[in-house]
Amino acid sequence: MSAETADPRKLSPETAAETAAPRWSTNGRAEMETIEIGGPDITASRIALGTWAMGGWMWGGSDVRSAFQTVQAAIDHGVNLIDTAPAYGFGLAEEIVGRALAPNGRRKRMLIATKCGLERHNNEMRRNASPSRIREECTESLKRLRTDHIDIYQLHWPDPAVPIEETAGALAKLLQEGKIRAIGVSNLDRAQTERFRAVVPVLTTQPPYNLFEREIEAELLPYAAQTELVLLAYGSLCRGLLSGRMTAATRFTGDDLRRVDPKFQQPRFDQYLNAVAELDQFARTHFGKSVLALAVRWILDRGPTIALWGARRPEQLAAIDTAMGWSLDEAAMHEIDRILDRTITTRVGPEFMAPPAAPADRAAA
Ligand code: NAP
Repeated sequence: MSAETADPRKLSPETAAETAAPRWSTNGRAEMETIEIGGPDITASRIALGTWAMGGWMWGGSDVRSAFQTVQAAIDHGVNLIDTAPAYGFGLAEEIVGRALAPNGRRKRMLIATKCGLERHNNEMRRNASPSRIREECTESLKRLRTDHIDIYQLHWPDPAVPIEETAGALAKLLQEGKIRAIGVSNLDRAQTERFRAVVPVLTTQPPYNLFEREIEAELLPYAAQTELVLLAYGSLCRGLLSGRMTAATRFTGDDLRRVDPKFQQPRFDQYLNAVAELDQFARTHFGKSVLALAVRWILDRGPTIALWGARRPEQLAAIDTAMGWSLDEAAMHEIDRILDRTITTRVGPEFMAPPAAPADRAAA
């Protein structure tokens, strides 16, 4: 199966060159691919660090020291974009990112993407994308992140109680004021994104996307490719399933969301584990890679994408380099689809993660 990179249109010159011959840096590692977000001023690594698990909430707890080391490891592997949100550990993940990037002028070399549009109610997050809430959240995020600007500010979830145009207007003001450099959306479909873009430029979209969760292929992915929208794929490893480290005996503790994630419940869990085993075999036979590298490479070869790799321990990022410097061609893509069709008979998406809408009193207001 020959090397062929999909849509090199928006990739860095280095990446386009890799289509013919992978470039290797002097330390023997494949160089991190990059992608421009709205132009060369924001050039991001195509693997970004995801920080949800670092926050601990819904992931069975946080280990702050290990989280700092993970940010360091990401930087060492050539990652320059970190995705976070106020919702991750109710502010803890943003605090960690802010503290990790504070020393040695690091902040200037890194890009921070964070989010707005959710509000805490006891131990859960609910949607609130009203202009006043967004302004308040932005101020709080800037403080926690120890910075005077956010590089990519994303609406986390659409809020049915607030017209999209109002939310977009609030973000447009923050852009004018220089508090944010670019606007992104997350969990919005194509029609919602178009409404948002009628008010203000939107440079990124962040949907769930991985080998097992491909709902966006019908509309959002082609739309992104056609309209210069960079797609930050979340759940790249399907919450660890695609790491290749899980077995039927794997157990999750505390408030870990995988205790309720339908993919991790039997008998379905076995189907997904079988798919992972077959994909691993395929990747090793044809490319000399693991399923983890295959899962990330697959996302990068599907369009103008960035793979968000969630991690909370530095060793979880050790394989980053193995996703660089090669690519999947059409024949490989088809074989992967055949494996998925054969192994998973009761597919299920990531819908269980959607946060509840606003309380009835605010929605009615
Ligand atoms: P993910 O990247 O698919 O999986 C992350 C988990 O996989 C890690 O926490 C770790 O779990 C496991 N893992 C990672 N590397 C591993 C390795 N080398 N070996 C074994 N296990 C490994 O899921 P995600 O964190 O949910 O998604 C990525 C990022 O996308 C998030 O962190 C967040 O920034 C963003 N996100 C956004 C939204 C949204 O609504 N916009 C929703 C979800 C996620 P353990 O530590 O438990 O082993």
